[in-house]
Amino acid sequence: MNIHEYQAKSLLKKFGAPVSDGRVVLNADEAAEKAAELGGPLWVVKAQIHAGGRGKGHFKEPEAGEKGGVRLAKSVDEAAAEARRMLGHTLVTKQTGPAGKVVNRVYIEDGSGIERELYLAALVDRQTSRVAFVCSTEGGMDIEDVAAKTPEKILTFSIDPASGYSPFHGRRVAFALGLEGAQVKQCVKLVETLYRMFLESDMSMLEINPLIVTDTGDLKCLDAKIGFDDNALYRHPDIAEMRDETEEDPKELEASKYDLNYIALEGEIGCMVNGAGLAMATMDIIKLYGAEPANFLDVGGGATKEKVTEAFKIITSDSNVKGILVNIFGGIMRCDVIAEGVVAAVKEVGLKVPLVVRLEGTNVEKGKEIINNSGLDVIAADDLDDAAQKIVKAVKG
Ligand code: GDP
Ligand code: MN
Repeated sequence: MNIHEYQAKSLLKKFGAPVSDGRVVLNADEAAEKAAELGGPLWVVKAQIHAGGRGKGHFKEPEAGEKGGVRLAKSVDEAAAEARRMLGHTLVTKQTGPAGKVVNRVYIEDGSGIERELYLAALVDRQTSRVAFVCSTEGGMDIEDVAAKTPEKILTFSIDPASGYSPFHGRRVAFALGLEGAQVKQCVKLVETLYRMFLESDMSMLEINPLIVTDTGDLKCLDAKIGFDDNALYRHPDIAEMRDETEEDPKELEASKYDLNYIALEGEIGCMVNGAGLAMATMDIIKLYGAEPANFLDVGGGATKEKVTEAFKIITSDSNVKGILVNIFGGIMRCDVIAEGVVAAVKEVGLKVPLVVRLEGTNVEKGKEIINNSGLDVIAADDLDDAAQKIVKAVKG
């Protein structure tokens, strides 16, 4: 689960990390009042969407103009005007894709004077099975270019969970960022704080870009992006409450209600598979034969007929889907349950695209019988390879 920048900053503040004072605005009419609560003389108005690259983004609607989603303002009126310009409009950034995201919330913040823009992030490093800090002196809006063109300017330090955090971790980060004097102390404290909140809140990602040196020489987190481990959310009801469902793919949201492992993708072939490994193999082989998967979906081992029905409905609700491939290797999952789910779903929502079904394993004969007796227009396949070829052929002609 991801949260908005303003929510991430309230969490940073709670743990004692330096952030600017700010107010969230949901309605343009309250923008002036909220901006006036901050002293000025400089304000920053920031569109709140679950995507980065806002500064260099642009709005779709002509009335919102070419100006981006992060703007400085020199008066309360200017700040209010920027908030009004952004709210309700669609911001397109490198990370949103061409469809963009509608801005429903705006954050107005005390503006900072900037000396330097740095990069600091914490993440779970799968290679070392540790929490790692990634940092760079080249923070700000071009960090993707830095990573692509001068990767040596990005440094990674991991923390051994057995011994935990020590001040030398913070000092290594501080020196890598070229900090001096009192800033080193601030950095040691910041890295410790970030590490503590990362662990205590079960984060999967915490990115501060930019971390700035202000014009008075202090460190401050100017932007914050946080992702949490969904499997640990039950331990943090206060964090779960920050979920903004309007930021999520409606199909993924629906799938999460039924505990389905579903991820929406851009392709044209909807996939219903049991087991994450088989789901990946299915996506690979679809690509091999020249098409693209519309989703990743692992219905899991113990899925019921109802769950399978929901999964099928979610796949068919995707207007990009031009064909569906059901690929089940029944082990714990029984083929007849899958067959019943597919038949029930098709009866409910209809079937407007070709459907290839490959069943193998537990109760396979019973499963095939259910499909054959259903009167559905199904293309049967013998194995994974055959199934992939058939669905790609059915879709591409
Ligand atoms: P992003 O584009 O979505 O990553 O949004 P950021 O919050 O990182 O803001 C983009 C850029 O706006 C930053 O890299 C800064 O250069 C600038 N910016 C943001 N806040 C301030 C501020 O308080 N003062 C000044 N001078 N610039 C700011
Ligand atoms: Mn940023």
